[in-house]
Amino acid sequence: MKAVLAIMEIEQKALFVIFGGTGDLAKRKLYPSLFQLYKKGILQDNFAVIGTARRPWTDEHLQEVVRTSIASNDESQKQIDEFVRHFYYQSHNVNDTEHYVTLRELAEKLDLKYQINGNRLFYLAMSPRFFGTIAQHLKSQNIVTDEGYNRVIVEKPFGRDFESAKELNDSISKYFPEEAFFRIDHYLGKEMIQNIMALRFSNNLFRAVWNNRYIDNIQITLSEALGVEERAGYYETAGALRDMVQNHILQIVSLLTMNMPASYSESDIRREKIYALKSLKKYSPAKVAENFVRAQYIGNDGQVGYLQENEIADDSTTETFVAGKLFVNNENFSGVPIYIRTGKRLTQKTTRIDISFKEMETSFFDSKKLGRNILTINVEPEGQVYLQTNIKKIGQGFDLKPSRMDLQLNNENEVVPEAYEKLLLDALLGDATNFAHWEEVAYAWKFVDSIREAWDAGNGDLSEYKCGSMGPKESEDLLKHDGNHWVFTGE
Ligand code: NAD
Repeated sequence: MKAVLAIMEIEQKALFVIFGGTGDLAKRKLYPSLFQLYKKGILQDNFAVIGTARRPWTDEHLQEVVRTSIASNDESQKQIDEFVRHFYYQSHNVNDTEHYVTLRELAEKLDLKYQINGNRLFYLAMSPRFFGTIAQHLKSQNIVTDEGYNRVIVEKPFGRDFESAKELNDSISKYFPEEAFFRIDHYLGKEMIQNIMALRFSNNLFRAVWNNRYIDNIQITLSEALGVEERAGYYETAGALRDMVQNHILQIVSLLTMNMPASYSESDIRREKIYALKSLKKYSPAKVAENFVRAQYIGNDGQVGYLQENEIADDSTTETFVAGKLFVNNENFSGVPIYIRTGKRLTQKTTRIDISFKEMETSFFDSKKLGRNILTINVEPEGQVYLQTNIKKIGQGFDLKPSRMDLQLNNENEVVPEAYEKLLLDALLGDATNFAHWEEVAYAWKFVDSIREAWDAGNGDLSEYKCGSMGPKESEDLLKHDGNHWVFTGE
């Protein structure tokens, strides 16, 4: 990543080809994010978007859909009109070679019309089973250009185990080299997740204590209030471990525990993240049962249980909740338990990290009465960082009370960009720092596979938890066993 600050101000020339242009992701995330980049002048005159999918839409219809997806009262109508004029629709079945010929002709025409100089971004916003076919046709039908760059962006899920992920990876990397291959993990585009490195490495105070001498345990919670909703078909084949732990949670673990990279560069950061993931302690199958909890939600308070949801088998054993205790056995973190949990139908949607520092041995205070220092990174909904400290109670005597030190992250009240906006800009700039590298994906899958295999071999029972709770009792017991408790109670 070179001099991004300067480049970010400059208009980017690009042709976006969005496979799955009629889909939910395109409408909810991609079109609004592209509009933000347009409003900021990063996209101006020299860009075009081709939306492709099977439906027989027209350019005008896609433009209407884009208009609706970015609709907001305060936008100037003129700006929206100008923006949507850059959108074109191509009805396209990804398995039909003929359709790629039409796509190439349209791409060439738009390249000339908007003077894009051959820069192309292919966004695969559709089922991964099509990725290989699309990549192959992009190459064989010469939709990739010689003149500019050709980058491919793919969505999760990236495989369902190491083998399938490798197959998927090979099917794309045959045609696109690693530096042109951007695997989205949208958590990496979140401002607060990017702040982990800033907090850790720019503050001497935190740097000094960010290790197993001072940190007692780390807790990561990614909770959702929603149930399985419309994604039953996919979720039944995945479950919480594959859906959330393999990608988002392990990415967060790597950012929290990696050694300090030699520089703020894609390759140095990557190297350290990969090393952290490689250092994840693997458990024997029997130890998986001791250190991991899996559970399914059951009906409560008007909400139906997982087994009563549409399209879910009556005897499904898919976990909708997982909690676990991990260790990263590198120099700074060996011995520090990292408790993770994620699940559906919990009390609320939140992503937060609690770093609990060790209790202090001291004769100055009654150490039993001393609260621990806890650094909380509240990724969402609030986007805050705060530190639990002890201070003196006002008045006579020397009693203590807990106090919260808030770190101001946004003094100017700037609008925080959406993760997808930041990631699309990174992809335009060719900066893959905030995307998942193949080796990260591979190590994460190997770790997750070892848990899945132990479960499948009968190690560890499937527990139950009520909708609207913070998971099963076994998740509390996991920490209690070590004399700990979840800092975040879900309230
Ligand atoms: P979707 O079902 O809403 O859209 C799928 C798109 O693919 C549609 O445009 C459809 O017309 C197109 N399509 C399907 N078969 C086709 C074919 N044979 N030829 C051409 N087009 C075809 O799905 P989505 O929610 O937009 O998700 C797209 C991808 O992104 C999925 O892999 C999903 O797992 C992933 N994803 C989505 C979200 C999200 O918020 N929606 C979040 C993370 C990841």
